[in-house]
Amino acid sequence: MAHTQTYKIKGMHCASCAGIIEKTFKKKEGVHSVQVNYATETAKVEHDTEKVTPHELSKAIEPLGYSIVVEQTAEQMGMSASEHAAHLGLGQSKQEKLAELAAMKRQLYVALPLAALAAVGMLVEIIPQLVLLLMATYMLFVVGKPYLQGVYRFARYGAANMDTLIGIGTSAAYLYSVAVTVFAAQLDTYINIDNIYFDVTIIVIAFITLGKYLESRSKLKTGDAIEKLLNLQAKTALVLRDGKEVEVPIEQISRGDTIIVKPAGKIPVDGVVVEGSSYVDEAMITGEPMPVVKAAGSTVVGGTLNTSGSFTFRATKVGQETLLAHIIKMVEEAQGSRAPIQALADKISSVFVPVVLVLAFVSLGGWLLVGTSYLGFAQALSFGLVSFVGILVIACPCALGLATPTAIIVGVGKGAKEGILIKDAATLQKLHTVNVVVLDKTGTLTVGKPEVASIQNFSGKKDDAVMALLAALEQKSEHPIAHAVVAHTAAKGISLAAVGAFEALKGKGLKGTIDGVEYFAGNVKLMEDLHLAVDTQALEVQTRAGNTPVFLAAKDKLLALVTVADTLKDNATDAVARLHKLGVKVVMLTGDDKNTASYIANLVGIDEVVAEVMPEDKLNVIKRLQAEGKIVAMAGDGVNDAPALAQADVGIAMSTGTDVAIETAGITLLGGDISKLVKAIALSKITMRGIKQNLFWAFAYNVVGIPLAGGLFYPVFGWLLSPAFAGLAMAFSSVSVVGNSLRIKAKKI
Ligand code: ADP
Ligand code: MG
Repeated sequence: MAHTQTYKIKGMHCASCAGIIEKTFKKKEGVHSVQVNYATETAKVEHDTEKVTPHELSKAIEPLGYSIVVEQTAEQMGMSASEHAAHLGLGQSKQEKLAELAAMKRQLYVALPLAALAAVGMLVEIIPQLVLLLMATYMLFVVGKPYLQGVYRFARYGAANMDTLIGIGTSAAYLYSVAVTVFAAQLDTYINIDNIYFDVTIIVIAFITLGKYLESRSKLKTGDAIEKLLNLQAKTALVLRDGKEVEVPIEQISRGDTIIVKPAGKIPVDGVVVEGSSYVDEAMITGEPMPVVKAAGSTVVGGTLNTSGSFTFRATKVGQETLLAHIIKMVEEAQGSRAPIQALADKISSVFVPVVLVLAFVSLGGWLLVGTSYLGFAQALSFGLVSFVGILVIACPCALGLATPTAIIVGVGKGAKEGILIKDAATLQKLHTVNVVVLDKTGTLTVGKPEVASIQNFSGKKDDAVMALLAALEQKSEHPIAHAVVAHTAAKGISLAAVGAFEALKGKGLKGTIDGVEYFAGNVKLMEDLHLAVDTQALEVQTRAGNTPVFLAAKDKLLALVTVADTLKDNATDAVARLHKLGVKVVMLTGDDKNTASYIANLVGIDEVVAEVMPEDKLNVIKRLQAEGKIVAMAGDGVNDAPALAQADVGIAMSTGTDVAIETAGITLLGGDISKLVKAIALSKITMRGIKQNLFWAFAYNVVGIPLAGGLFYPVFGWLLSPAFAGLAMAFSSVSVVGNSLRIKAKKI
């Protein structure tokens, strides 16, 4: 059985490791596909579990210095699901990372002063060669151990990563210098015995270690969104058991339990309020700063914070079903996913190390062959050696490998904080190219809670009687119009008759029988179907004022024209203006009347209105826009509009409650607020800009760095990079890439 699983990988120290692990896994029988992510240090493997087990996979990479962190299940560890999640999310890997960081820091306390000393020694030759030799020995064999291991693995298994490059470079400098020191007398006539390179070994290893330290520290910071989400989870809850309040660990809560929330308490799981009322701060989930009022019937979300009231609620979702658990899973998966823009960088990283090794030897050979005739052998050899070491040290696929994933991690995490849930990196990338946004009217631009605005009664009966008929029919419908009508009669205390043979008429309205009479309620189209003439002038007066008409009719008689009016969302106009500023055209798509739709569109500043659309045609509207060459994002409620959302280049689900169909849409906006849509697009633009900057600098750095270190510019400009500077540049390159990605966090969206 093919099975896709994400494994945490231990021992990844650079971007080229991803390529090595991928290649090794792919060679195993039963492995279908592999995606290794250096930034999250995970491998997503699709494999046949009968042919190859995780243990065997781990065995395959162990000789190369890596292993799979085999995650025990919650039961094996005797933990609850949430403890286990916390453990996997932070516990183990984070503790290990922190310990690793602390160890690196201790090494730096020795390495950096030694490097400083060596640097001084380079300028004024006051340090005896023997002392330099001792210092270099310590650096290479103690601090530089991972790099030597890289050389060993290369010799033994042919697997080369960045550690291998650094290892070969620094040990070449070291061995050459040892040989010159020991055999000074014998070599004196052939080479320049004053040129020794202990300082190179010392300084390069110190800088690279410093760079790695800073990089790992920042990498930890890029992933802190998950940690924050995990921390939202309450540990215990007050549950009503046999009429008593008992405090229980949250994993012991079952669906249906009655849970008590005290002032300033955390809501432990998802549920529906039964009794009491309060304001709840949901900012941590939806990004909305204003506390939301909760009373009987309201939904509450685990991880949010009660303010001063108190209430009880019935648990409806527990454990892995809660919204918070879904969000965490989604963010984790999105952060580990690969953006299409990364493809080229991945390709380059995978062949980078062998290519650089060849380049280093070519450059050494070049100096010896060509350089000797101009500079003499002794000088050419020492330049050749400097080039050789310099190329190995400066060439770093790390920055290339980190450029995209670190920015994605930060971008996705920042989104989650704002209530913007992004399914994967590809969606985040796609979103920045969107130039048309299609919005559903009801519930997206308007509040979605219309009220009855006018009643024109042609029936001869009393208004209340007509409304009672209409409400009886609408009772069975889920449409916002129906809610308006039913709320109207309910407020008046009008009781409703029983309805038989109810049928929803898609895109038009509905029908049903009351006391043996068949009635219809719906829009003009429905009246046309019934061949009933309507007073078009009266209708226009209403629709032009932004009201939505509902006709009530019997088979051969028009009974009433009722209109309902919805209110605009506070920030709709502002959001549309901001979309325009981002260069995005806004299209409104609705089944509602043309005039009503245009009225709303004008208020908000919509560019194009497509009204009176039948549900199945919404999809075609998206297709038409795409045929015009537009990249279309569609925002809808995610349930009715599913086909259109799926057809759009980016489907955006506006979620209002706890029932989020997170997995279906590319982007889910919690709290159902369209200003978030603007934020999502802005976030995608910022993230993509960050990625492009990162990739540019990572490429430019190597394109300039390698020839410079190789001495290509020496004949013309006399430039030759000292390997110590190469080490500094290399350390700087990955640190600056991670730093640039972290900047996304602080950007305003
Ligand atoms: P939308 O969600 O954009 O309104 P629908 O396809 O759900 O699109 O509805 C299209 C139109 O059909 C509505 O604008 C309304 O005129 C009519 N309609 C739908 N349901 C009802 C209903 N329950 N009562 C009256 N009219 C309805
Ligand atoms: Mg609808």
